[in-house]
Amino acid sequence: MAFLEVADVRKGYGEGDAHIEVIKGVSTSLEKGDFASLLGPSGSGKSTFLNIVGGLEPCDGGRVVVDGVDITGLSDREVGEYRRAELGFVFQFYNLIPDLTVCENIEVCAHLSEDPLPLDDLLRSLGLWDQRRKFPRQMSGGQQQRCAIGRALVKNPKLLLCDEPTGALDYQTSLEILALMEEVNREYGCTVVVVTHNDAIARMSNRIMRLHDGMLVEDSVNEERVPALSLEW
Ligand code: ADP
Ligand code: MG
Repeated sequence: MAFLEVADVRKGYGEGDAHIEVIKGVSTSLEKGDFASLLGPSGSGKSTFLNIVGGLEPCDGGRVVVDGVDITGLSDREVGEYRRAELGFVFQFYNLIPDLTVCENIEVCAHLSEDPLPLDDLLRSLGLWDQRRKFPRQMSGGQQQRCAIGRALVKNPKLLLCDEPTGALDYQTSLEILALMEEVNREYGCTVVVVTHNDAIARMSNRIMRLHDGMLVEDSVNEERVPALSLEW
């Protein structure tokens, strides 16, 4: 069985006449260690799909199996446990806790895990050692996103889900953040899914998925992976 199995997932919003179908029967699978890009225009269902895989939203039909566990069949408490134990989430706008330093922001997430990564090593590999006592408002967007990746990563998650992680960053900073994600995928072996509407980013991944109007219109293997730092867009 694959690490992630998604079978005929469906999701809609609204009642009666206002009902819209947003995910229309999506099936795919990822192997452990895959680095996948999820592409598609705005409104195509990328965030909804990622949130379903991450247990942030329930689906209306179908199954999502992560590492042998059907998360669509879990109770709310069990889904919460799955998110805490197995998952890292990274969002476009960092979602850091403003009153905590870099170090503390990461530390609170370390407590969610029985086997967190060593904090000092992680701060160094994120390039945040010198920034560790700063508050989010004292840092650039790229540094804040590094901290957010640290929060996601310190739990040593099996699956790292990233929703437009470079959407608010300039080109050069985006490349550096993507290079960091590449390193995370390689060094820590976690499976990564990056949502983006930038086709160029997909060239660094070994799997490319594309949503259009709630349907998966491309699901392919990328044989010619390009290192993040040499991407151009
Ligand atoms: P993407 O991330 O690809 O831009 P989304 O998954 O955010 O797309 O949204 C897909 C569609 O679902 C859009 O039409 C959006 O308006 C709708 N949608 C998303 N979340 C909700 C919600 N909570 N309630 C109603 N409609 C929603
Ligand atoms: Mg989105």
